[in-house]
Formats: sequence, structure tokens, C-alpha cells
Amino acid sequence: MPDVVETDYLVIGSGIAGLNFALDAAEHGRVLVVTKKAPSDTATNWAQGGVAAVLSGDDSFEQHVQDTLTVGDGLCDRNIVELVVREGPAQVQRLLELGVALARTGEGGLDLTREGGHSQRRVVHYSDVTGSEIQRAMLAAVARHPNITMVDEHIGVDLLSMAKYGGAPACFGAYILDKRGGHVRTVLARATVLASGGAGKVYVYTSNPDVATGDGIAMAYRIGATVSDLEFVQFHPTVLYHPHAGSFLISEALRGEGGKLRLADGRRFMDAYHPLAELGPRDVVARAIDNEIKKSGADSVYLDMTHLDADFVRGRFPTIYQRCLALGIDITRQPIPVVPAAHYMCGGIKTDEWGQTTIKNLYAIGETASTGLHGACRLASNSLLEGMVFSSRVAQHVRHAELVRPAQVQPWYSGDATDSNDAIVVTLNWEEVRRFMWSYVGIVRSDKRIERARRRIEILREEIREYYWDFKITSDLLELRNLALVANLIIESARRRKESRGLHYTLDYPNKLEVARHSELQLTNGPQA
Ligand SMILES: Cc1cc2nc3c(=O)[nH]c(=O)nc-3n(C[C@H](O)[C@H](O)[C@H](O)COP(=O)(O)OP(=O)(O)OC[C@H]3O[C@@H](n4cnc5c(N)ncnc54)[C@H](O)[C@@H]3O)c2cc1C
Repeated sequence: MPDVVETDYLVIGSGIAGLNFALDAAEHGRVLVVTKKAPSDTATNWAQGGVAAVLSGDDSFEQHVQDTLTVGDGLCDRNIVELVVREGPAQVQRLLELGVALARTGEGGLDLTREGGHSQRRVVHYSDVTGSEIQRAMLAAVARHPNITMVDEHIGVDLLSMAKYGGAPACFGAYILDKRGGHVRTVLARATVLASGGAGKVYVYTSNPDVATGDGIAMAYRIGATVSDLEFVQFHPTVLYHPHAGSFLISEALRGEGGKLRLADGRRFMDAYHPLAELGPRDVVARAIDNEIKKSGADSVYLDMTHLDADFVRGRFPTIYQRCLALGIDITRQPIPVVPAAHYMCGGIKTDEWGQTTIKNLYAIGETASTGLHGACRLASNSLLEGMVFSSRVAQHVRHAELVRPAQVQPWYSGDATDSNDAIVVTLNWEEVRRFMWSYVGIVRSDKRIERARRRIEILREEIREYYWDFKITSDLLELRNLALVANLIIESARRRKESRGLHYTLDYPNKLEVARHSELQLTNGPQA
């Protein structure tokens, strides 16, 4: 790729949102998809459950809307919820047209499963590997399209903004670091679309892949975009705790089938937290595990399946069984060590019903966006659907984006920066941010904990800033800089919310305020970029 590239549409990210946008927008323009690792290194590829849509005669749009609103705890935008829910069936049809192999019933209809929070069976899936099947089909379609160029191992550094050239804020592309060559290219685009996924890596325990470092949120915030509701981080109750496991989700279905949570000494504890014990709501179970771990100082709790029939366990959970066995845990004979983990970012870059951010010609789709669908808590399997609905809408809207660009664009300038011989600074700061975010701004928060995190993030960000300007940029350094900014934004959003609502739970304000308000931050009222 040349050092300066021009395209109609620049997309940062190759998950469901980025690829679906590319496929639609390529019908009327040239699309460049930039992705920081391999094209399939995405959260999309890891999604297990499926895509929610109203497809059965027993179900209705209103029921799906109501379920979403109930879980969202007063902060969903009803118009957006309706818009997304009504689009569901058409988006499932689109998946089928793309060649996604969705599971069928014996009679040939689509097999619908039921997940927590859904009043009906409405989740289409492909075994327990739905996301990788979607990713496969979309990547194949993208590879066939003459108007789409996919560039891997390139990481977005910063967005190009007219504000730097004395104009009104508008985005006209991005600086992109070629990770292999180590130099920065300039991509000029009529519309720039952030499809860069979530930010689970802000926390030491996460179900997310390594790419989830919140880059899109950080890049957008740095050029003045509004971000919203970042305190609403969804924690999954059970991720495998093992030094070599990476991030591996232990599905809620194990508890659904009779799995029991136990402490290291074998005692059960969920009865003390909820009448439904292990089958209580996801956030209650996550909080209970977090509390037990904090109380005992243990590394994990255990999910016990050993009382169930071994053949049943192996047959019902083949992937989990095999993965644990490979790590030396036979789940039919030994309890599984588990911890809760950051799973999904409900907030993000604020967008309207066409995926527009508050910056002209800058769009955000998928997990990086805050559309108003999820409110204070996400209903399971609504996120893949949201990614599809909004990427299609943005593909329609960008057609009319007006070209804005300065007469002369400045190339990336690295000044006196030298190669770093102190990479340990990056590793240590990375570890530290993720640990204190987990302890202080995790599942159970308090004013004191948040304040501790705030003091630490300020010192760390100062250190990272110095390092950033002194040394040549690397992918690790860019991710650390973004991660620390996103951590700062989560801390600030959590600090300002003086109530417990949805996923934000604080010991100091255990109740909900009467009026539900979004938290919004931008450069003028939030932390320094
Ligand atoms: C284990 C797991 C299970 C899940 N199960 C479900 C489920 O069953 N149903 C459901 O609806 N949701 C599920 N989710 C959530 C859902 O998978 C994600 O919300 C969704 O896939 C996000 O899609 P996306 O396109 O926004 O981002 P992603 O799929 O995460 O893609 C982000 C892309 O952006 C790229 N990127 C990021 N930063 C940069 C940068 N600076 N420069 C270049 N590229 C960059 C990444 O490399 C990647 O290609 C699950 C999530 C996880 C982790």
C-alpha cells in the first residue's frame, strides 16, 4: 500500500460491523478495511450464542422490545430499540443469503434457542460457534468483492480532523501504522467508519480477544467526539481461570444444566445471594462470585459438573469439555476454576439512528458505538444484531457524505522520536491499569475505590504521554495509550453516576435515582486526551 491512500470509505475493524458495512457500501464506492491483526481476530469470531430476532409465531416485536427495555434498566432509547428489533428478521435473512449455516430444526425451520432475559425462543445460532460461522461467510464475501480492499496488520493511530487545520470538526481519514514495516500511512476518505469493537482488555479478566483495547473510543474522543455510558461494563460470571487458558468463556448453559458454584472447600454459596441460586440473573451471580473471591482472597471459585452424567456433559458441551481437557481439567471429574470477566461494553461513541457520531463524516458501528439500544445493560444476543442493523444503515448514509478535506494534508511526523529500549514500561503499565481497574472499577464499586483508580490513572497517563512523545510508536504503545484513556473515561463516567443502575453497582448509592440520565463525556468536560 502506498504512503498516502485515497478511498471513498475507510473502515477500521473487520468484525461483523465492519464487514457488513463494507459489503453494503461497496455497492456504491471503494472501501478500504483496515484491521490490526488477522482479519478474523475479532470478538465476532468468538461469539458463541447467536443473534436475537423475532422469527416464531409465538413471539412479537413488542415482546423483544420489552425484554430489551427491561434489561436496559431505564436507559434504552425506545425508538432505537424498535428500529433494531424490527430489522431483526431481515438481517437473519441476509445472513442466510451470505451463506451463513444457521442451525435447523428437524422440520427444516431455523432452530431458535432461548437465553437469559428473553421471554421467547428467538436466538438463531450455529451450534456454539455462531460468530466464527458469520465471520467465515462475511470474509469470503468480502474477498470476492472487487470494490473492497482488506489490509491486515495495520493499526489506526489517530483520526484526521479538520479542527487541526482551523476548520469546523470533521473527519477525513486516519493515520495508520503498518505493523510489519513500522511506518505510518495516511488514508484519506470521504467517510470514516469506526468498527473497532469493545474494550474488555481494560480489565485483567476478560472474555474478549486481545484486539479489544477500545482504540475506536479513544481515537474518536481525541478529536472531540462525544462518548456515552461508559460505566456500563457487562461482566460475564464465568470465564475459565487458568494461566494458559487465555480468555475462555464457560457458557451460562452449564449452570442451566445443573452446574453448581462452589468455594475451594466445596461449599456452595449462591443460595445466600438469590432465591434462584446459580440460576439467578447474570449480574447477581457475577457480583456474588466477585464478593466471595474478595472475601476469601482466593484466585477463583469453582463450577462443579461432576454430579452430572459424564456422557451427557461431554455430549452437551463438546467444545468446553475438549478445551478444559487440553489444559488438564476433566470437567466430568473435576470442578472448573472460574472467575467473572469483563465481557461487553454497553457504552461507547455516541451515535444517532444513522450511526453518525457528533463529528461530521465520522461514523461508529458495532460494540464501539453507543446507539441507545442497550441502555444500562445489554440483553444477550442483541449485539450481533445491532452490529448488522447499524452497519447497513451507515452504508446508506455515507452515500451522501460531503467531501471535506484540507488543501494540503500533513503527513505523519515522528520528529526526534527514537526506538524505545525500555519496552518494559509498556508491559508494566499495561498490567497495572488492568489490575486496578478490576479491583476498583469492576463489578462492585464505591466512591473510595473509584477515587483510588482516578489518582492512579492520572499518574500512569502522564507517564504514558511522556513515553509516547519520546519514542517511535509501536502497536503495543498505541494500545496502551488507548486503553489508559478508555480506563480514564470509564472511571470518570462511574465517578459521576451517583446511583446503582443496570451494570453500574456502587456500595455508596445502592438505589436508583428517579430520573435516568445518560453520562456523556467530551474533551470540554471530560479527562484530557
Ligand atoms: C466470548 C464472546 C461471546 C459472545 N457471544 C455473543 C453472542 O452469542 N451474541 C451476541 O450478540 N454477542 C456476543 N458477544 C458480543 C459480540 O461478539 C460483539 O459485541 C461483536 O462481535 C462486536 O462486533 P464488532 O464488529 O463491533 O467488533 P469485533 O468483532 O470485535 O471487531 C473489531 C475489529 O476492530 C479491529 N480493530 C480494533 N482496533 C483497531 C485499530 N486501532 N486499528 C485497526 N483495527 C482495529 C480488530 O482487530 C477487529 O478486527 C460475545 C462476545 C464474546 C467476547
